[in-house]
Amino acid sequence: MAQLNHTKPFPTLNNIHVDDEATIIEFLNTNSKAIGALKYLGSFVDNLKIKNEIGIKANLQFLIVEREEHYRERAGSDYVFNEKYVREIFEYKYDLPDTFPTTQTEVEEYTIPSTIETHSCNPKQKCSKCHASGRCSSCDGSGSKSCSSCSGTGKKEQRDGNYANGKPKYKKVACYSCDGRGRKSCSSCNGSGKCYRCEGSGEVICSRCDGTSKYQTYVSFSSSFKPVNAKFHFTEYDELNNLIPNTKNKIVFDDDLIEWENQSSVLFDNKDSAIRANKHSKQFINELETLAGLNSSQKFGRIHVEIETVPITVIDYSFEDKEYQIIIIGEDNTICFKEIPKKHSYKANIFKRIKNFFTKKKRQIAFVHIASYMFNADGSMDEPELKLLELFLNNIKLKQEEKNLLVENLKQRMTVDELAPKIKNITGDLRALVFAWQCVMQDGQINQTEIDAFMELSKLFKVKEEELEKIKHKATKFAQLKDNEMLEEYFKA
Ligand SMILES: [Zn+2]
Ligand SMILES: [Zn+2]
Ligand SMILES: [Zn+2]
Ligand SMILES: [Zn+2]
Repeated sequence: MAQLNHTKPFPTLNNIHVDDEATIIEFLNTNSKAIGALKYLGSFVDNLKIKNEIGIKANLQFLIVEREEHYRERAGSDYVFNEKYVREIFEYKYDLPDTFPTTQTEVEEYTIPSTIETHSCNPKQKCSKCHASGRCSSCDGSGSKSCSSCSGTGKKEQRDGNYANGKPKYKKVACYSCDGRGRKSCSSCNGSGKCYRCEGSGEVICSRCDGTSKYQTYVSFSSSFKPVNAKFHFTEYDELNNLIPNTKNKIVFDDDLIEWENQSSVLFDNKDSAIRANKHSKQFINELETLAGLNSSQKFGRIHVEIETVPITVIDYSFEDKEYQIIIIGEDNTICFKEIPKKHSYKANIFKRIKNFFTKKKRQIAFVHIASYMFNADGSMDEPELKLLELFLNNIKLKQEEKNLLVENLKQRMTVDELAPKIKNITGDLRALVFAWQCVMQDGQINQTEIDAFMELSKLFKVKEEELEKIKHKATKFAQLKDNEMLEEYFKA
């Protein structure tokens, strides 16, 4: 499959998303160069079919309620059991903020009174520090400890000069740290010998009930609001999907889509209006949870959406028996196509590229001779025929005497044998034959002598009969061009 080409947007084109043929033809003619097509493409197309479709582009804002259950315990019996509170945490009213917060809000925690259970408890606990003995574990209840400085001896050695052989000499003195007693008061119990934590009782206040003899277990839930944004787009034309986000369009809906009071009750629901504003709204409504990335501890609180409707105009047409398609998308008009006609050619070799060795003027005069041959075929030249001939003559740069001579010539009826040498230079260019048929049609009626003359002429171009039909069809297209466009198409080498 050919690659889809697309142009830059053409925001200045107005109202081209229509199904009116004249407008579309005019658009194709005016913009043929910008989209890389042959000139006046609009005038040369057949079987034009226009479909006006739409796509959708949406910005979604989700306000998400995030809640989680917690199993909690506390000392005392202050909380009051109440069975009328439900257990399901998303049944509690959301109380959403009026505006969407920019970041996740602070987490609040709520107790569920129906889950409160009160338990009895021993207000005292065995002291873990002394293993309920009440004795100081550091001094084992004695109130004093062996002095670490003298290892409990009460004495220490002190330097006392040297012996005659130079070795150091020591004497024994009382230990300064314990005043020679060998033991010191215990710092953990300040010498009392009692455990400092339970003050010798072997028991402490129970941490679970805080000494109240009761504690409570219950379920609570934490709750906060989290904003999430998402973008969505859709068209029925898959290949256009990646172009949609870059288009600029009218906003057709900018409102809250739906809001919940809690998980089972909806405060308001605008989905139908969104679908009325753009039928493809259904597409994102069907996948809201995926778009928001909702997980099991989240529910929607409120959804806001801004919807753009993307106009899509699909133009099917044929050119020289081949099917083509052009698609215009967005209010700013991006133009897409896989292939576009770039030049006239029925088959290879038909419009031969003729070397430009004869002058432009000779070529133009040859065209005038063809016109004269065809116009005179039915015995006379009438008004529309003369007008076309005039048009050609006036656009050839001729001296007055050259022109007079040519005009005299043009009044004569010619046989094809007489014509042949005058048009030798263009018999390789089928545009001349297209032109000949346009001359036949010029007076609005086609008679047998004209047809015969045309058939005679076509032999000079060595054209097969089946190709003649295509040439005649092409002539009807050329006839739709404005005068200056037609001259340009025929006269360009
Ligand atoms: Zn207790
Ligand atoms: Zn102690
Ligand atoms: Zn000591
Ligand atoms: Zn203790």
